[in-house]
Order: sequence, then C-alpha cells, then structure tokens
Amino acid sequence: EKIFSGFSKTRENLAVVDELLLYWNLEETDRVLDELEEALLVSDFGPKISFKIVDILRDDIKAGKLKSGAEIKEALKRSVLQLLTSKGGNTELQLGSRKPAVIMVVGVNGGGKTTSLGKLAHRLKNEGVKVLMAAGDTFRAAASDQLEVWAERTGSEIVMAEGENASAKSGTLTESCINTCAIFSFKSDSYLCLVLSQAVKRGKEEKYDVVLCDTSGRLHTNYKLMEELIACKKAVARVIPGAPNETLMVLDGTTGLNMLQQAREFNEVVGVTGFILTKLDGTARGGCVVSVVEELGIPVKFVGVGEGLDDLQPFDAEAFVDAIFP
Ligand code: GDP
Repeated sequence: EKIFSGFSKTRENLAVVDELLLYWNLEETDRVLDELEEALLVSDFGPKISFKIVDILRDDIKAGKLKSGAEIKEALKRSVLQLLTSKGGNTELQLGSRKPAVIMVVGVNGGGKTTSLGKLAHRLKNEGVKVLMAAGDTFRAAASDQLEVWAERTGSEIVMAEGENASAKSGTLTESCINTCAIFSFKSDSYLCLVLSQAVKRGKEEKYDVVLCDTSGRLHTNYKLMEELIACKKAVARVIPGAPNETLMVLDGTTGLNMLQQAREFNEVVGVTGFILTKLDGTARGGCVVSVVEELGIPVKFVGVGEGLDDLQPFDAEAFVDAIFP
C-alpha cells in the first residue's frame, strides 16, 4: 500500500497509457506507441529503456501477437517486469558461510543509509541474527548518535568513534589513530577505515553473525572520497578474507534519473552487490529504477517505505510493476 501511494506521481504521468490503449486500433499503432514512449520518458524510464520497451511492443503487434489494448498493456507490464528481474540477479542477501558476514552500506548524503541500516538490523534481529553495527558515518556530526538510537531501538551492539580518536572525526586521522591502523596492518589516514576495521575485528572475536557497516555519504563525483571506500573494503578484507559479503548502495527513490549516474559510478569504484531503494512512501519516481537494474544488472534487495522499524521490505518486482501500472 505504501509503495502504491508513493508511486502516485508516476501513475499520474502514465495515466495516458490507459487512455491511449483503450482506443487503440492497428492503424494508429505508430501514433499510440510514440505517445506511449513519451509517457515512459516523462516517468523517468530514460531513453534507452523507453525505446526498448516500445520496440518490443511494436514487433509483437506487427507479428500479430497483440490484438487489443488490454493485451498491449499486459505485454508492457511483462516487459517491465522482465527488465527488472532478468539481469538483476539474486534479491536475497548473500551472507556466505564465514562469520561474521560483513555488509557495507554506501551512497550519497541524505539518501537514507543510516536509517536503512537501522531497519536492516531490525529485520536481521527478528530472524535471530546477532548483529553488530559500525558507526562509519564519521563525517556527519549527528550520524553516530542517530545510529546509536537505532542500536538501542533494535537491541544491537555498536562500535563508535571514541575518545581521542573522535577528535579526528572530521576527516584525516591523528597520529595515535594512524598507529592504531598499524595494528590492522594498513596505512591509512581514513578514520572510516579504522572504525570499520575495529568493528569487524570485534565482530570476529565476539562471534557476531553480521557486522553492518555504515559509511559517510559522498558524491560519486568526488574521486578522493570514492577512493576511501576502496581502502575501506581492503581494510575490512584484511580482517576477514572475502569481506564485505554485500556492498549495498542506498538510492533515494525520489531523485529520478540522476540515480543512474550515481549507481554507475559507485558500482565502477566499489562494486555494488545490491540496492536499497528508499523513500518509496514519498513522491517516488519509479521509472529510473528499471534503467538502473537493467543497465547494471544489479538487483534491488530492499525497499524503504518509511522511517519506522518495520519499514524496510524485501523488493517485490511484481508489486512494484503493479504499483506503476495498476
Ligand atoms: P544518510 O545521510 O544517507 O545516512 O540518510 P539518513 O538515514 O540520515 O536519512 C535521511 C532522511 O531520510 C532522514 O530524515 C530519514 O528519516 C529519511 N528516510 C530514510 N529512509 C526513508 C524512507 O524509506 N522513507 C521516508 N519517508 N524517509 C526516509
């Protein structure tokens, strides 16, 4: 229901599709498909996907496979569903057999990383998983406090920046932090690397099932900050070979096609294994999600539909398509 109401704007943009198909007849196929393509473009599907969907429909109509507006509508929905699922891979979390599994949450500022991580902790705890949180958003002043609140709400343990280390929160490390990094046998001036390494080490020593690593938001265009994520992945892998098991990128569902460029760049630098699509309860823009999944071949694993504990749901492609094309 929340996804359905979140996609009201997308449905508004696509309402014309129903009108067009209601009066479709074979002679008017080209005009109808042109207008349908326009409606998809306005709804953020992006040119590549919009052309692709319309081309498939045109071929099927010419081949006599689609004979009514209702059949075209069903074929349109099938096409979108297929684009969302055929290349997207496994939508379940892949945690492997080695413990603790490490999940890193990345994305641009304000997308919903910290909130999603809190909600994910709640889901995992409900499944009986022992969760440790790492307050890796060391840049935004209130982020650690925000995650601490989530730790309390979900009854999870948390590793946070502490004492003199905390003085280096805003960016590069103090001498003592660099020395601490040396314990983990890497040389870095990244505070984030340090907090994540400490958390993963504790997770291993204290036999946690999953370590959930928050990270500070960054713009995909800032290469230095993007490089820091590579350093973090390497640092974590030094403690547990093969970690992180999942690198989940949070995409703000209200941002439109801009999310495609963000996803491309994050994936190129850190190798994203799944998306968390947030704020679908807001004025979400559904079309671009199809473009992201189709182009990158990476699945949406969860959707965020609010700020409450239970507002993270597994991605359901069919419900998603039904919410866009009722
Ligand atoms: P971060 O900077 O990426 O860690 O983003 P935050 O987790 O701090 O989230 C930014 C804002 O978005 C906060 O006000 C959150 O409560 C809100 N938010 C996050 N996810 C959702 C969601 O699924 N739905 C709604 N409505 N708000 C969300």
